[in-house]
Amino acid sequence: MSDLHLLSVKALATLLKTKEISAVEVATRFLARTGGNPHNAFLDIDSEVTLDQARASDAKLANGTAGPLEGVPVAHKDVFVTRDFTTTAGSKILQGYRSPFDATVVQRLAQAGMVSLGKLNCDEFAMGSANENSAYGAVTNPWDTARVPGGSSGGSAAAVAARLAPAATGTDTGGSIRQPASFCGITGIKPTYGRASRYGMVAFASSLDQAGPMARSAEDCALMLSAMCGPDIDRDSTSLDMPAEDFSAALNHSIEGLRIGVPKEFFGEGLHADVRAALDAALREYEKLGAKLVPISLPRTELSIPVYYIIAPAEASSNLSRFDGVKFGHRAKDYADLVDMYKKTRAEGFGNEVKRRIMTGAYVLSHGYYDAYYLQAQKIRRMIADDFQNAFKACDVIAGPVAPSVAWKLGENANDPVADYLADIFTLPASLAGLPGMSLPAGFGAHGMPVGMQLIGNYFKEAQLFGAAHALQQATDFHLLRPEGVK
Ligand code: GLN
Repeated sequence: MSDLHLLSVKALATLLKTKEISAVEVATRFLARTGGNPHNAFLDIDSEVTLDQARASDAKLANGTAGPLEGVPVAHKDVFVTRDFTTTAGSKILQGYRSPFDATVVQRLAQAGMVSLGKLNCDEFAMGSANENSAYGAVTNPWDTARVPGGSSGGSAAAVAARLAPAATGTDTGGSIRQPASFCGITGIKPTYGRASRYGMVAFASSLDQAGPMARSAEDCALMLSAMCGPDIDRDSTSLDMPAEDFSAALNHSIEGLRIGVPKEFFGEGLHADVRAALDAALREYEKLGAKLVPISLPRTELSIPVYYIIAPAEASSNLSRFDGVKFGHRAKDYADLVDMYKKTRAEGFGNEVKRRIMTGAYVLSHGYYDAYYLQAQKIRRMIADDFQNAFKACDVIAGPVAPSVAWKLGENANDPVADYLADIFTLPASLAGLPGMSLPAGFGAHGMPVGMQLIGNYFKEAQLFGAAHALQQATDFHLLRPEGVK
């Protein structure tokens, strides 16, 4: 079959089940596509590992023990630890590191039958919005290789957009699934905090980190998220004790009468006109499909930036203290004593953005500043969550932009990290509140670049997001289009 690599997760799963194609055939096709590492999307590929998994899938398909996604390839963000591939989290400090176990999410997708194509590039420790903070080089956007793919799950988004993998995993702390999905014209969802286990996810900011799927459609994301979620309380104390859910069952729910909240703060001055135009058109499409648009307010939207950039670095400074040259990865070669070893190891191993976050985090947690910054941020975080509950009295889901603009040029913000921080404004609120958020292709903006629409649901209402996203994807074809150069 010549267009195997263009097929959806769902189509591949079906053809594998009916034995029209084999897992080895599918894996071989994708391995041929990832060879040469287009867009610098991958950090580790091992064709023998992938083919072994594919052969095991074919055996299961033959003997009737196949999982729901048996033989369908997936690639994992390099923030998930894996036994069979290296895990670096995009950092030099973990160069060559091999975990003795698989992250729960990786394990569950393998149990569902997915075959791993390897590990995907990302911003170092998932800190960034453009994938330019990776120690292994930037990833390019398949729609325009002079532009960033978004971040921190930039490798995941680029791989799916370039048809190097039908689906990928991502992690989202403040937008890292939603924003790259938007920049690369694909679909991605961050579930409610606690839905997916964080066990084996290299920690950035533990009260915010969540795993989720990235694929071309809501339908494919639903299949994957159903396999990824479920309790794991023995290994992640914040994992919710809620049974896994079949999100595919929700896809065809009618959206007749669905109340879509449109927050005025998401459509203010900062939003670029081209992005607004695409979103306006998508919202009109929702009205045609029977949904009702309701004006709402999320008054503390702007505060989400300072709040997030206090809380996330604070948690990061604590989480990253484990990289001391003793337990994991890199250790400096020449040092005078133990303290000198720590210092040199961390100075050599961490990149600039990570160092900036550690310093900010240590500062806001320090005696005398804790109350003024960290505690204050925690209080506003609670108010941001309350604002959402207030808004959900008037609507079922909230719609808005994912980012103020389309993907920017590589290097554009090289000397201005705050410019990247500010662009996170629309994804941070849902992260701080722990709410599920989704990004789906909603059209094109300046330079022909994709524009994503963000849908935010109330806690545990992923099914509603899938229903709303699928309805739009049945009526539009943005999620089916691919970059010109991708054959
Ligand atoms: N851009 C945000 C940051 O740099 C979010 C990253 C993420 O979600 N991992 O922290």
